[in-house]
Order: sequence, then structure tokens, then C-alpha cells
Amino acid sequence: MHKLLTDAPGKKMLLLGNEAIARGALEAGLSFATCYPGTPSSEIPEQFLHISQETDLYFEYSTNEKVALEVGAGAAACGLRTMVTMKHVGLNVAADPLMTLAYVGVKGGMVIVNADDPSLFSSQNEQDNRYYARLSGLPMLEPTTVQEMKDATVAAFDLSEELGLPVILRTTTRLNHIRGGVELGKLPPRKTKGTFKKDPFNLVTVPAVSRKLHQVLLEKYDRALEKSEQWPYNQLTGKGKWGIVANGVSVNYVRDAVVDLGIADKVTLLKLGFSWPLPKALMTRFLKQVDKVLVVEELEPIMENELKALAQENGITIPIKGKGVGGLSRLFEYDPGLVRKSVAEYFGIDYKAPAMVEMSDLPPLPGRPPNLCAGCPHRATFYAVKQVFGNEAVYPTDIGCYTLGVLPPISMADYLICMGSSVSSGCGFAEGTDQKTVSFIGDSTFFHSGITGLVNAVHNNHKFTLVILDNGTTAMTGHQPHPGVQANLMGLDRTRVSIENVVRGCGVQDVHVVKPFKIKKTIEALQAARDYDGLSVVISDEFCPLFAKATKQFKRGKVFTVNQEKCKNHRDCINKLACPAMFVEEEKVRIDENMCIGCSVCAQVCPENAIVPVK
Ligand code: SF4
Ligand code: SF4
Repeated sequence: MHKLLTDAPGKKMLLLGNEAIARGALEAGLSFATCYPGTPSSEIPEQFLHISQETDLYFEYSTNEKVALEVGAGAAACGLRTMVTMKHVGLNVAADPLMTLAYVGVKGGMVIVNADDPSLFSSQNEQDNRYYARLSGLPMLEPTTVQEMKDATVAAFDLSEELGLPVILRTTTRLNHIRGGVELGKLPPRKTKGTFKKDPFNLVTVPAVSRKLHQVLLEKYDRALEKSEQWPYNQLTGKGKWGIVANGVSVNYVRDAVVDLGIADKVTLLKLGFSWPLPKALMTRFLKQVDKVLVVEELEPIMENELKALAQENGITIPIKGKGVGGLSRLFEYDPGLVRKSVAEYFGIDYKAPAMVEMSDLPPLPGRPPNLCAGCPHRATFYAVKQVFGNEAVYPTDIGCYTLGVLPPISMADYLICMGSSVSSGCGFAEGTDQKTVSFIGDSTFFHSGITGLVNAVHNNHKFTLVILDNGTTAMTGHQPHPGVQANLMGLDRTRVSIENVVRGCGVQDVHVVKPFKIKKTIEALQAARDYDGLSVVISDEFCPLFAKATKQFKRGKVFTVNQEKCKNHRDCINKLACPAMFVEEEKVRIDENMCIGCSVCAQVCPENAIVPVK
């Protein structure tokens, strides 16, 4: 049995933040869950996938976040409690339905989990999605601890049903991936089917209906504001004259800093867990009882600006600061040391940071830049493309493991904005320059948002080459399925959608399917694509070796070794492929036979035929 199905109210369990959210959803009677996986949110749907195989919970990996939200909206309109999860940039993709779903509202509770990524650990930008609550008019909750991540999730479903609105549960990477003790609640029975009641004059957003629904949304805002004022996770603690306001994980840093600096009796802490609408009355009360305020919030100065506006409205003239104090900036995530130092600086406390542990006698750690795995088929494809198109071609890339192709010596990534942008920006490059254009997109990303760009390329007669790197899985976020996977390998009953059929169905005339470990044939196909006067698509079809291992599809070939008598030590292999199984020892190229998966690409690259299978 999945551990999150443990039906033992009161029992304590050590959970990952993302597991706590999943458990909270189950305790709220979750019926329906959808997502597009994205770090740092990916472990939430992973729980739902396994739980759906043991119970009657409905779960799906949808093709993208917009689709996930729309699928969820349908289920919630039938009265089912629904959760939709995504990372912060995913909400950009889902923003179109989000904005109007706020008008239409929901019948069954709907919680949209949005995971922001300060410091961009695995993202292309660092946007602060608290703005989406303000833009859409939807309530937003921000838990602080792992226990709260569970409890706030349960409360979010109740709130959603009470207001008839989706509720956004905002987390950040640090919270998604911390572990903490969680006291379990009850697991109620699940409602698996609802009823859809026709109500077109409230659910079909033609202008006349939407004009009315916008007013309804503003009325719901007023009710949400009342809820925020009474929300148990908005908390005012302490009686001191020094005010500190914090949200999310920063609350924990502030609590530690206050204790470490010995200023607990001087501080009043306002913790804001219902971050939109903000509890204005509570905030005003706080402003009236302190002499100065420090706002500790990662990314944008949203609460800081709200507090300043509130102080102005109420004629309160105390200093209110956040960004610019100590190390509190709009960039990157905070940490306990940075917050402690900033609190000390703002309140004029004589504080010396603890001395760093003396480690000068330790040898420096070797650099470990991110790299494609040993035997990754993307490396072979990049090598072949470079042989055919050289360094002068423009290489728009996309979101996936293959983005690592940006690093030397591969250096096969020139432009990236967002999921699917390689195909559409490829159209622009194809028209904007006479340089050849080769766009790279992964299989999951192709389904996510590459297809519309491809249709655009066909329709507008753009001439470039699109390489679809089909490794049979959504590799970067942890091997989730997508519409093109062999779902049976993962024990799932899902229909496979053929990438080749989709490409041909979009009207592409020049289509090649290659096995990238066969370098010569891959190069020949790429040459044909290069010489074709139009749009070409090359589908590079080879399993991600890690996924192949996990699904027992992996047939390890003979591992390879370097014949030192033949090797001329010019390092072509390392300089062109950078397979991490290769290393240099005593000035000689060697292969780590434990890492090598026997893809044979290095043997095909070596001009001296010095790389040979181990006998
Ligand atoms: S490419 Fe071949 S000859 Fe050159 S260093 Fe590598 S193994 Fe040796
Ligand atoms: S055969 Fe060569 S390229 Fe392939 S995994 Fe082994 S060392 Fe790396």
C-alpha cells in the first residue's frame, strides 16, 4: 500500500513537502488530479500516479499545463474535488484558462499547486507567481512548514468550494523539497462521479455573460478578504516594537534569526499564509503596534509595497523596508544566514556571523558541470548534426535534458525562451537569416507545445530542419509518461500517439526517422534534410538509458575500452563527445567500464579505430 494511503489519524509521518501536499489532497477527498510535470512540483503527481493504480482516484499526465487546467476545470464543474499541479512557468502556459476560469468558478473544490523556483535551480526564469493571484483575482495560500503544506491543502479545498473559485497554493523549491514530521488526519471516502448541471448563462463566457461574471468575481474577492482576515495561518506573534513580516519558507528563517539574535522580546512577527487577498485589517493592526518594519519575502517586493500603501492610507509614518536591507534582494532564494544578517543590520544589532569552519587543509572539490549521461542518445544526435551543419548554423533549442547541449564541447544550443519555442523561433530564424537553422525539441516538449509551431512552419512554408529527440520519456523531470511513450512499459493503459504520424499529419513532406547510435546513417539522413528545399523533420529515436534501465528495456552492449597502442592521444573523442565515461589518467584517454553503456558512438568517432569493445 502506498504510504500516503495510511489511514491512521494522529499518526506522525516524515514527509517531503510535495508528499504532504498530496496527502492533504487525499484528506480533502481528492477525486481527480491532473498535471504537467515540472520541477520542483513533480513529486506531487508522482504520488497520485501510484495511488491511482491502487484506488479509484483519477489521475493523468496531461499534454501541457493549459490542457491540465482545462481537464481539471471540466471535472471540477461536475462537482469533483480536483487538483492541478505545475511549476511556475507552467502557469504561464495555463494563464489563458486561468484568467477566465476565475470568472466561471468551480463547483467541486479546485486547488492549483504552483511551485515557484527562486534561484532558478531548474527553470528558465525566476518569476514571482504571487502576481498571478492579483492578475486573476484568485485566492492564494502560502504554507510555511511541511505540516502546513498538508493542512493548508485541506483548507484550500474547503475555501475553494465555499467561494466557488479555484485556489492557488503557492510553494517554492525549498518547501517542495524539505522533509518534516506531519500529523495525519482522516482519509474520507472519495466521490468518483459528479453531475454537470447545464447553466450556459453562467458557464459560457460570451461577452454578455463575462461582463456579469467579472462583477461576481469582485464580489467573491470581498468574501475572500473576509476569509483572509480570519485565516488561522495568518498569524501575529510577539509584542515587541520591531515588526517583521514574512511569508513561506522565510518565516522559518526569521523565527531562527530572532532566537539567534536574542531579540524575541523586541519583535512582533506577522506571518502571512493567505497571501491574496492580504488581510488588510490584521496588517493595519500590526502597523499600529510597531515602530519600524522589515519585510522578508523572496523575489518581488509585493508585501512590502502593499504594507507601504496600507500605511499611507492609514496615515502611519513608520519606516517600512525590505529589498535593499542587508542581503535582501529581488534575486535568488534566501537562507538563514542571509536573513539573520539582514535582521541584525536593520534593527542595529551588533552581530558577527559565526566564523566559517576552517577547511583550508581540504583539497578543492573537482568541478562537476552538468553533463548528459554516459550513453545519452542526445550526444550522438548532436555530434551527427554538427558534422552536417557545422558551427555556423543557428540551433534553437528547447526545455529538456538536451538543453545541456549548450555546454562545450557540444555547444549546440543558441536560443531558448520557453517550452516549444525552438520550433516557432526556428520559423523566425529561417526567415530572418540565410544561415541554416536546426531546431531541437524533445518528445515530451513536442507534445507539450511544439505541434502548433510545426503547423505554423508547414503552413507558412518555412525552410529549416527540426530534430525531434525522442527518448521515449519525459526524462528531465523524472521519467513521467507523455502521449508518445510506450505506456505499457510503465504499467499504464494509455494509447500511444506516434510522433511520426503527427509530423506527417501536420503536412511535413520530408520526414526521417533515425537511430542516433548509427552515426553514419544518421549523418546521411541529416544531409538529405539539409539539402531538402523546405521543412524537414528528423526524429532521433533512442531510449534514454536511465529510463531503459528502469523499465528493463536496457540491453547493455559490450562496454568499450581504449587500445592504447592505437590511440594517438589527440582526444578527438573527448573533445567532440565529452561522454562522462571517458577520462584522462596519466595523460592517456581511458573509459570507465562501469559507466560505459556500450553505445559505441565513441568508437565510431575515433579516427584511429582505437576504441574497441572489451573482449
Ligand atoms: S579519438 Fe581515438 S585516438 Fe584520439 S584520443 Fe580518443 S581514443 Fe585516442
Ligand atoms: S561506448 Fe563510448 S560514448 Fe558510449 S557510453 Fe561507452 S564510453 Fe560513452
